[in-house]
Amino acid sequence: MNHICRAAIGLALAALAIPAFAEEHSHAHWAYEGPDGPANWGSLNSDFAVCSKGIQQSPVNLTDAHSGQNEALALEWKPFAPVVMNNGHTIQAAAAKGNVTSFDGKPYAFQQVHFHHPSEHTIDGKHAPMEAHFVHKGADGKLLVLGVMIEEGQANAEIAKLWEVAPQQPGEKPSKADVDFAKLVPSTSKFYRYAGSLTTPPCSEIVQWVVFAEPITVSKEQLEAFAKLYPDNSRPVQALNKRTIVFGR
Ligand SMILES: [Zn+2]
Repeated sequence: MNHICRAAIGLALAALAIPAFAEEHSHAHWAYEGPDGPANWGSLNSDFAVCSKGIQQSPVNLTDAHSGQNEALALEWKPFAPVVMNNGHTIQAAAAKGNVTSFDGKPYAFQQVHFHHPSEHTIDGKHAPMEAHFVHKGADGKLLVLGVMIEEGQANAEIAKLWEVAPQQPGEKPSKADVDFAKLVPSTSKFYRYAGSLTTPPCSEIVQWVVFAEPITVSKEQLEAFAKLYPDNSRPVQALNKRTIVFGR
């Protein structure tokens, strides 16, 4: 449905020189339901084969984690006014240059944040209503993604600034105010870490995942506003296979 729109957005991003996540995506069509849904992603396009053949796929159910000392995580972010995009699969905000997260002493550039409804990861088998993914890229091309569970509760002032301008149809619009994204990350929380993949095609197995145990909240209205656009943009959990999940701080 949005092949042309997505290509156009890609061009617009290239023109703005925003470090777009789009380069990780093929332009082939995929969806969250029907014949182009998650069960068939691996056969939609040869670039997507790892979606079905991979052995380190994401998301996963976070359970039976090994307690451990996790690597130091440090966010060096400043508030900025992002461009907010509806890309046909989610609402996504592009990060301004210069926002860096260090993990295990390695710097990763914050690229974009986007949202899933319901959550993609589960904790002890349980979904949260939503999950935010803060996507980062290292100098070697490897990704660090911070996953934050979102529960219903207090309204969220930073999310309000994103939803205010989020296009109802594929397209993009700048936010009207600076957004303090650090307020959306419970960075003092214990977290789960494991090696995984993109949760959308091409499902590349290049992601260091960090998923925080502690959620943030949005209001019922804020949940409903997203669910109206994307009632289900969540890939089912994948087999853990031989991977280890470490839980700690
Ligand atoms: Zn995601």
